[in-house]
Amino acid sequence: KLSARLQHIADRLPSGCRFADIGSDHALLPVYAVQSGQACFAVAGEVNEGPLEAAKRQVAEAGEGKRVSVRKGNGLAVIAPGEVDAVTIAGMGGALIVSILSAGIDKLEGVTRLVLQPNVGEDLVRRWLFSNGWYLTEEVILEEDGKIYEILTAERSPSASDLNDKLYEERPIPGSTNSFTKELLLLMGPRLTQQPNEAWFAKWESEIEKLDKIIFSVAASKQEAAREKEEVLFNLSNQYKEVLACLQ
Ligand code: SAM
Repeated sequence: KLSARLQHIADRLPSGCRFADIGSDHALLPVYAVQSGQACFAVAGEVNEGPLEAAKRQVAEAGEGKRVSVRKGNGLAVIAPGEVDAVTIAGMGGALIVSILSAGIDKLEGVTRLVLQPNVGEDLVRRWLFSNGWYLTEEVILEEDGKIYEILTAERSPSASDLNDKLYEERPIPGSTNSFTKELLLLMGPRLTQQPNEAWFAKWESEIEKLDKIIFSVAASKQEAAREKEEVLFNLSNQYKEVLACLQ
């Protein structure tokens, strides 16, 4: 049985697809996806020896060597252009996910769906999708074992640019005179802010707490640069607090 996080990712694959799971580690997702019929073929990509061995073991034990190809390599280097129609990258920081996507952009030819689960830096992933012709079709946030995860699904679309402009269009924060700016939506999620759940509130309460701690420590400094930083963080924290108060 998959974790709720991996199950959500599997559920978002196009039915019967060929996909690559980059940074697959134990290859749980590819094995599950081919066995459930969600995918007909999967590549499990790994750059590190330990996880690569774990993936090979898992695939061999499941008897899925024909449908799951375990390959060693950096990011999207493990696939050929046109080989898969979906890519999943889960359990890494947003900056690493973005660097993998950028470095392998020619390998995304023919890929119609991305399912990405950054552990941190979700806004970096949204920014990359926005700038590279991918429309963010779904955002999921869930809590599992005390951790909060966001799963971002994107589709390639010729009208991605118009669709994204609409998605990130400035809109009122209900009950406030202020608006959700594009920047705020990139941070808090253009879709998640429309239907915030408990996990989303928990995430932003914790982000505010972290910010307020930084503000407190910066406030002790007499340096000009620290003062400026304090003001930026203070404004951001206040923006988050207002959004939470209005959406609650
Ligand atoms: N995707 C699995 C999941 O979500 O449960 C495993 C996540 S694990 C925390 C991250 C994995 O990504 C590690 O096994 C690591 O070796 C792999 N990794 C990190 N950078 C990578 C890269 N550039 N290319 C391929 N794999 C990478």
